[in-house]
Amino acid sequence: MRILLVEDERKVASFIARALKENTYAVDVVETGEKAIESGAEVAYDAILLDVRLPGISGIEVCRELRQRGVEAPILMLTARGLVEQRVEGLDAGADDYLTKPFVLTELLARVRALVRRGFHTGNARLSYADLALDRHRRRATRGQEIVPLTTKEFALLELLLLRAPELVTAARSSNTYGIAISIAKRIFLRSTSTACVRSWIKTGRRS
Ligand code: CA
Repeated sequence: MRILLVEDERKVASFIARALKENTYAVDVVETGEKAIESGAEVAYDAILLDVRLPGISGIEVCRELRQRGVEAPILMLTARGLVEQRVEGLDAGADDYLTKPFVLTELLARVRALVRRGFHTGNARLSYADLALDRHRRRATRGQEIVPLTTKEFALLELLLLRAPELVTAARSSNTYGIAISIAKRIFLRSTSTACVRSWIKTGRRS
C-alpha cells in the first residue's frame, strides 16, 4: 500500500510516517500543497492523508485540484478540532473522510485501512513483477500459474516490495522484516529453485 502524507509540521509528519511504515505501508511525505498536487497527480496512491492547514495552497484547495485532475485516490483530511465548516468544506472539495487533530494513532490507522479498502474499487488492485503477481482484492499471490500461500504479514510485506520494485528495500538482518522476507522468498522460490537463489534474491546492506 502506498500512501501520500501531506503535512508541514515535521514532527507530526515523521510521527505519522513512522507509524504507517511500521504497519508496512510505503509512505511519501511532502510539506506543501504544490508538491502534494504534483505527487498526487503523478503517482497512483492507495490513500492520501492531507492536512488542511498548509503554507500557501490549503489542503482544501489541494483536494479540489486533485479531484479536478481526475485523481481518484481516497483522501483523508486532517482538520483542526471544532471547525465544522472546515470538515464540510473538505468533504465538498472531494475528501472521503476527515480526522480532527489531535487524534489517536490507532484511529488514524483504522481510518487508513478503511480508506485503502475503498480505494481498491478505483483500480490498482493487481501488482506484478516478472512472473510474480499479487491480487489485492482476493489477497492472493501467484507465481506463473501457481498460487503462493502467504500469511497476512508476508502478504503485506510482499505488497510493499512490489510497490517499490525494482527499487531495493533495505532491512536490517536482525529485524522482523528481514525474517518475513526470508520466509516469503522460501515460499516463492523453494519449490522450483535452490537456496542459493533465495540468498541472491534477498540482499541486505546499504542502498547505493
Ligand atoms: Ca499544518
